Amino acid sequence: MATVEYQRIGKSFGAFTIMRDVSFKIEDHEFVVLLGPSGCGKTTLLRMTAGLETVSEGDLLIDGKRVNDMHPRDRSIAMVFQNYALYPTMKVYDNIAFSLEVAKVPAAEIRKKVEWAAATLNLTDYLGRYPKELSGGQRQRVAMGRAMVREAAVFLFDEPLSNLDAKLRAHMRTEIRQLHNRLRTTTIYVTHDQIEAMTMADKIVVMRAGKIEQIGSPDDVYDRPASKYVADFIGSSAINFLPGTVVVADGIPAVDTATGRVPLDKSTAAKPGQSVVIGLRPTDIQVDSAGPLAAKSVLVERLGHDAQLFCDGPDGRFVAVVDKAVRLSPGTDVRFSVPTSKVHVFDAATEARI
Ligand code: ATP
Repeated sequence: MATVEYQRIGKSFGAFTIMRDVSFKIEDHEFVVLLGPSGCGKTTLLRMTAGLETVSEGDLLIDGKRVNDMHPRDRSIAMVFQNYALYPTMKVYDNIAFSLEVAKVPAAEIRKKVEWAAATLNLTDYLGRYPKELSGGQRQRVAMGRAMVREAAVFLFDEPLSNLDAKLRAHMRTEIRQLHNRLRTTTIYVTHDQIEAMTMADKIVVMRAGKIEQIGSPDDVYDRPASKYVADFIGSSAINFLPGTVVVADGIPAVDTATGRVPLDKSTAAKPGQSVVIGLRPTDIQVDSAGPLAAKSVLVERLGHDAQLFCDGPDGRFVAVVDKAVRLSPGTDVRFSVPTSKVHVFDAATEARI
């Protein structure tokens, strides 16, 4: 078990600097997800942690010890890759046992560890099979078994579920998280899938173009996104954005948008006259005949338990999650309201949360 600490980490490939000033700490036992779009640097940060990539600037500490120049073998980390990297000519047992055999661990001890990992991962009946005789989820579990037997202090996962279909992905993410709850090994998990991040992480590190945009619990990043970028990235029905200007009407702060005047919480730090963008999550918007927002319905998309209502307004397309009983023909005028506590306000120029 270990802590991992990044102190002002930077990374350059030749003349290209792709990461700057990344600082944060991962506590012992924590499950941390590095989240961001393709190319933001999350895999590079993971590879630097593993020692597969050099650190250009700053200090990387594992359990308080600087490891910038330490060989990957000596870092007490185990990495699970996207493509599993199983040995195709070895049976499951040997795939899991391989690193222990290389380390010349006694055979009886190897057998004990492999059997423990296989039992934990429900692989006992598959130890005699070759990787090609396994499903994607089973192969994924073998890859995890290899990491487990090494008794590493830190597990690193690089998009481990991206080759699986949607149903198996959902299943494996609960398995990985359950495994973590049992083993409690400090884990760093890279993904661009915000649902994986929300469902698995103790702490999410949202990255953007080689920098950290926000660090927080899943609830923090969902309820209080630090920027428009984070608000847009998190949430499975994408958040609606409306540009506008802050006003004070009858002593109440509000934002005038082309779609309507949206009241703000009295405690808002937004200043009258300030150009802002407000973010409204589809699940926070209610159909309300007395509501301030006006748009025309386009389509109701039924999702079984509820429905998504797509509307067009002066600010463009607008989505609200509504009761599945809602029936609206296209072109119907609809009004909406949203509780003041659910209005996210961002500065129009800096896109930072106000
Ligand atoms: P993805 O989800 O697509 O893997 P990522 O967020 O993990 O994306 P990285 O793979 O860390 O991103 O890459 C970050 C940036 O560094 C990208 O712009 C990429 O092109 C660049 N990069 C990565 N490896 C190298 C390399 N060996 N040489 C030059 N540039 C590289």
